[in-house]
Amino acid sequence: MMKINDQRLLANIARYAEIGKVGEIGVERIALSDEDKLARDLLKEQMLHLGLEVHIDQLGNMFGMRKGKKDLPAVAFGSHLDTVYAGGRYDGALGVLAGLELIQSLNDANTETDRPLVLVNFTNEEGVRFAPDMMGSHVYSGQAKLEDILNSVAYDNPDDTVRSRLKAIGYNGEMKLGSIPFDSFLELHIEQGPVLEKESVDIGVVEMVQGIHWTRYAIEGEANHAGTTPNIYRKDAGYASAKIIDYIGDYSRKQANPVLTTVGAIAYEPNTINIIPKKATFSLDLRSPDDEALSQAQTEIDAYINDIVTTAELTLNKEVLVRFKPVHFPADMVELVQTASENLGLSSKQMPSGAGHDAQMMSACCSSTMIFVPSVRGISHNIEEYTKDEDVVNGANVLFNAVLSRVYATN
Ligand SMILES: [Zn+2]
Repeated sequence: MMKINDQRLLANIARYAEIGKVGEIGVERIALSDEDKLARDLLKEQMLHLGLEVHIDQLGNMFGMRKGKKDLPAVAFGSHLDTVYAGGRYDGALGVLAGLELIQSLNDANTETDRPLVLVNFTNEEGVRFAPDMMGSHVYSGQAKLEDILNSVAYDNPDDTVRSRLKAIGYNGEMKLGSIPFDSFLELHIEQGPVLEKESVDIGVVEMVQGIHWTRYAIEGEANHAGTTPNIYRKDAGYASAKIIDYIGDYSRKQANPVLTTVGAIAYEPNTINIIPKKATFSLDLRSPDDEALSQAQTEIDAYINDIVTTAELTLNKEVLVRFKPVHFPADMVELVQTASENLGLSSKQMPSGAGHDAQMMSACCSSTMIFVPSVRGISHNIEEYTKDEDVVNGANVLFNAVLSRVYATN
């Protein structure tokens, strides 16, 4: 079994964690921000240093190609360097830097491969400022139009678009999306949940990713005096939204079907103690491994919202942000990870992914799969996010050997 250089990988992860550092170990590197640019610049420099051919596509996705002996579709691997606000150092960066490390290890050993290898850093996986999330892989895999996505406007600043920010950081590349043929895509990622740690398992062999629906609702009524307006004359968007959020929260707790429901953001206007809210804007995040259950939840929740809004004589504006179906990874790819784990003497467990990932998008255009390593206390999207060094190294070695077993295949 080939192994990566442990210390070099850990040192590189620590180096990237300095870019956008928050607190002791946290990182804040929002997609297309100045910090994102710094991390991209470093990656580009490191890829060039390893002798890779660097390509930037029109959505800023970064590719580092190591040529193969044969002109075959490439085995690709990677993840994303962007983070959420007050995020961690492993979510995304681990997959990119483990990929970089495995290439360096191959260089050290003077090993050639049949297939080309491609390390990928996808643009805006987190979707913090620009929707949708998993943006780079979503468009790369042909599931959205580049033009539409380039025009995506920042949530927090109407002057910022994906196009303008790509230009500002110098990553509005020339390469057409999808122009490098991929045989497969493998993504190493932290679990971001508690299962592996709780069950003392080294490696999560990810068999599927659950489906995701994101929707934004804006309910509009009328602002009025909190003291002089009797209830029967109120058009209270705040009260209506509270009823709806109560229903959404109960939905996943009361039903037997496996759908998780979250209202993660809400804003009132004018948001003042003595004024009846004129407007309530809130988000809905639905997730399930079962596509039918997901659609049914969406339909029932939408019907409830319509009911409340109609009864209260309010108006509703619904904005569909994301609709991603559950994805099942091909059995031969899942087996690749399983076998690599066994050969390395690591314990493993087949499991679904609760979070969305680039590999889920890439499965629309090539054989894809994922490798999970344990997250301490299951914490992620938080500056406390942590994965033990030995787990980082284990995951990178599984990625390395899974890639190697794919790279020599000639069909
Ligand atoms: Zn991630």
